[in-house]
Amino acid sequence: MDEELIYLGNIKRTILVVDDEEINREILGGILEDHYDVLYAADGDEALSVINEKGPLLSLVLLDLIMPTVDGFAVMEEMQNDIISRNIPVIVLTSEESAEIESLKKGAADFIKKPYDMPEKIIARVKRIIALFEDRMIIQSTERDELTNLLTKSYFYEYASLQDKFHPDRRMDAVVVNINHFQLFNELYGMHEGDRVLTTIAGAIKDFTEENDGIAGRSEGDIFYLYIPHRDSYEDLSEAIRLAVTRDFRIHNVQVRLGINDSIDDDMRIEMAFDRARMAGNTIRTDYSRTIAYYDDKMRKQRVFEERLIQDIADGIARNQFMVLFQPKFDIRGEKPKLVGAEALVRWDHPELGLVSPGSFISLFEENGLIRLVDDYVWRAAAMQIKEWKDKYGVSIPVSVNVSRIDIQDDGIVDNLLEIVKDAGIDPSELHLEITESAYASDTRQLVEVVEQFRKHGFKIEMDDFGAGYSSLNMLTSLPIDVLKVDMRFISGVNDDAKNHRMMELIMDIAEFLDVPVVAEGVEEEEQYATLKDMGCEMIQGYYFSKPVPADDICNFID
Ligand code: C2E
Ligand code: MG
Ligand code: MG
Repeated sequence: MDEELIYLGNIKRTILVVDDEEINREILGGILEDHYDVLYAADGDEALSVINEKGPLLSLVLLDLIMPTVDGFAVMEEMQNDIISRNIPVIVLTSEESAEIESLKKGAADFIKKPYDMPEKIIARVKRIIALFEDRMIIQSTERDELTNLLTKSYFYEYASLQDKFHPDRRMDAVVVNINHFQLFNELYGMHEGDRVLTTIAGAIKDFTEENDGIAGRSEGDIFYLYIPHRDSYEDLSEAIRLAVTRDFRIHNVQVRLGINDSIDDDMRIEMAFDRARMAGNTIRTDYSRTIAYYDDKMRKQRVFEERLIQDIADGIARNQFMVLFQPKFDIRGEKPKLVGAEALVRWDHPELGLVSPGSFISLFEENGLIRLVDDYVWRAAAMQIKEWKDKYGVSIPVSVNVSRIDIQDDGIVDNLLEIVKDAGIDPSELHLEITESAYASDTRQLVEVVEQFRKHGFKIEMDDFGAGYSSLNMLTSLPIDVLKVDMRFISGVNDDAKNHRMMELIMDIAEFLDVPVVAEGVEEEEQYATLKDMGCEMIQGYYFSKPVPADDICNFID
């Protein structure tokens, strides 16, 4: 118990003494008041109203059985029916042993005999029962995390709630610590090394919480939770973690991000407080320049907006509110650029929110799996468009569609796409599948399998956004692809930044080694175009030629 008290602080617990005889209340009060905050009730009714009011604050009820009107048994019965007071232990005060069985049935935890024993004995009993109940409440929810020895999530929530219960006036911060790209770290160095890094980070977090009178837990994987009395800055926490990692590992590429919720309302559930901290942390998932983000009102509005999108998606699909635009792609090797295909890019023409760009909903729908609805819609639209162009202009213009990593986890994806091309009356080779690089960092074995199946059936695979994320070169050689699409970031600096220029040359080398052509995305200026052409880049897509346009406008680019 004493170890647990460290977490709760040595705070005075509150006890309710219920007895209709004033002298009895006085005796017990006299014994307990040095150690506890004691409240009193002179009958069952009064007892119940104190319990209702102070519920979670009460650590124990000392209850007389025989009282006029509402007696002790009735009080216990009421308490059992209430989800909060059910967890408050009751010690029955009684002079007759015969009442014990009945009391136990009604949920009593222990008995104190009248006339009262030596004060020390009563205090020991009271202390024991309180400790027992607090322990039980915590232990029920499970143990410590095996790897890091921090509290597990449910255990952590329990402690955090207890903190609130005993320090209702203390302002607390919910802090969520995440490691950036931890999955990649595991891939590069192995699970065992990954576990060691987690342990080191957990150690730093534990030291920090102990120094700052808080508690720490591990939620799952590389996610840690801290509940800390409010502070103005958390730079020292991220610094402490960074130092611990460099001390133990001599590596510098482990970066953490902190999501902080420092505006927790009194009546906010602890889970929600942490949801919000987590949400704040996720907003800087891809922004390497920031390590700390606070939950704020803007985020709340964003959440409301996202909820709306989730609500409306089924309707949007059913009512054809999703529009598919096409951005042409040109072969630039010859003297004159030649149209070789187009990328299908989706927009949502929402009746009330207006035109919503994919940047606002793709990652949201990836998180909850709804992306499959959107993608299925876009794939069908693209396939039918290829057929329509063919019938109209007599040429095949291949279209690339985006395939999200969530789509790939779906066992039926290959059959689904085969059915789509069959229904549209086109050949699989006319539909190119753009798989973004981040997908390559997840379950690689499954990805390779799916990609191989796709290629067996004749689909073309393009690796999207190459260079933006973290594909290992290893991965590149084991994954059969047909086209490398270079991320826009490299193109925008290809002329102004020597490092980017060199990078682009390296990517061209890699593509040559893999024997696949390169598409440069996001080409906006003549100069970029000229440089890329010089480097031997095969294809270009970007505003320099055209923005994404409605299907009918593609005819302008056919020669
Ligand atoms: P992405 O697949 O890399 O698509 C290229 C993005 O770059 C498109 O943005 C395109 O409009 C934009 N872009 C093209 N040329 C230029 C240029 O010269 N300058 C600049 N600044 N931008 C250019 P968009 O349409 O907003 O799409 C953003 C991302 O959303 C896409 O990136 C893709 O990852 C995702 N996305 C779009 N449609 C779908 C879809 O149907 N399904 C899925 N899963 N993802 C989609
Ligand atoms: Mg794409
Ligand atoms: Mg791209």
